[in-house]
Amino acid sequence: MSDTYERAQEPAEAERLDVASALREEARRLDAADPLGGHRAKFALDEETVYLDGNSLGALPAHVPARMADVIGREWGELRIRSWDESGWWTAPERIGDRIAPLVGAAAGQIVAGDSTSVNVFKAVVAAARLAGEAGEGRDEILVDASTFPTDGYIAESAARMTGHRIVPLDPADIPAAAGDRTALALVNHVDYRTGRLHDLPGTTAALHAAGALAVWDLCHSAGALPVGLDAHGVDLAVGCTYKYLNGGPGSPAYLYVAERHQDRFDSPLPGWTSHADPFGMTPGYRPADGAVRGRVGTPDILSMLALEAALDVWDGVAIDAVRAKSLALTDFFLECVRAYAPEGRVTPITPEAHAERGSQVALACADAPTVMPELIKRGVVGDLRRPDILRFGFTPLYVGFADAEQAARVLADVLAGTPSD
Ligand SMILES: *Cc1c(COP(=O)(O)O)cnc(C)c1O
Repeated sequence: MSDTYERAQEPAEAERLDVASALREEARRLDAADPLGGHRAKFALDEETVYLDGNSLGALPAHVPARMADVIGREWGELRIRSWDESGWWTAPERIGDRIAPLVGAAAGQIVAGDSTSVNVFKAVVAAARLAGEAGEGRDEILVDASTFPTDGYIAESAARMTGHRIVPLDPADIPAAAGDRTALALVNHVDYRTGRLHDLPGTTAALHAAGALAVWDLCHSAGALPVGLDAHGVDLAVGCTYKYLNGGPGSPAYLYVAERHQDRFDSPLPGWTSHADPFGMTPGYRPADGAVRGRVGTPDILSMLALEAALDVWDGVAIDAVRAKSLALTDFFLECVRAYAPEGRVTPITPEAHAERGSQVALACADAPTVMPELIKRGVVGDLRRPDILRFGFTPLYVGFADAEQAARVLADVLAGTPSD
């Protein structure tokens, strides 16, 4: 009886080890051939940790602390107020906007960095509603993806109340068909933060335009991970954060894109003095500056702003198409390793298989997610949990490799199987 039992197990175990060594070998081959492999050295990372949470907080680029020491010690400590001019502090928001621009397919002069994504969602939704015309003229609906990151939904709802619109929550896939005479704008997440699903930006934008409406995109989970093509696809307004795939640091400034053709009529609901045509004129009447600067509000948070600016150096010479190619290969490989290693039926990928519908993360539904993720983190595989039952693993192609993906899947399988850590 026990003989039979053991013989039945041995080939399966041997097969499992075989598969594992084949996958490890494949990871080594893929890493050795990876044209982006050299970029990992630009980041402060340790060899013991597989960091798969760069879609929540990007890793620290290794040169940023020295730059911040200079910003604080010399620019602030020695030059003090002179730095607003002499160190370029005053123009940092638009200068940094121009550094983000190529990563999201925008020509210069259309992006300004500053404030949080939440605040920029507010500016963008109200400004788009104003561009679309008075709600009373018939365009009284704002379409929002029903699965949106919460802050976008909350703020759009408040903006809608203020501007006399009503919110229509929809599956992003249904937005093109739903856009019509009553649609003022749609606010859509480019990639779903929970599932990692990539939404159809070109098609949805075109359908909104055909209906006479505007397209506002949230790029938090796509900028720095895949090509966005804001200009090429005629996006009207966009927002995004910089602390995820752009590695700007905790709470680093977000950004706002206003397509050049809309800038003259962009009417900010937060017309702070730094967006004035002559801010130091200190005049009582508001007169907006030209260009992306019109999206500014108050005094920029220079320390975070300049940490972000330094962090963006890691993108010098990096083609976003190469990042996308590696991201898809990494997520494919991780899914393959999970399928090979994970005990049957314990995790279910909810990230789409189709490349055209996949962002740069893999989300796995798992009934035990709330206990599995802390154990994974204890064993050096850092992803995150989205309650109630989603394990999220972000793949940041500049510093995550194929061996990382294989190791993460292997440790996940051990945790699921209850194998003690060594
Ligand atoms: C991360 C994220 C945000 C965050 O907004 P904050 O104002 O920076 O807190 C907003 N929207 C989406 C889609 C996000 O993924």
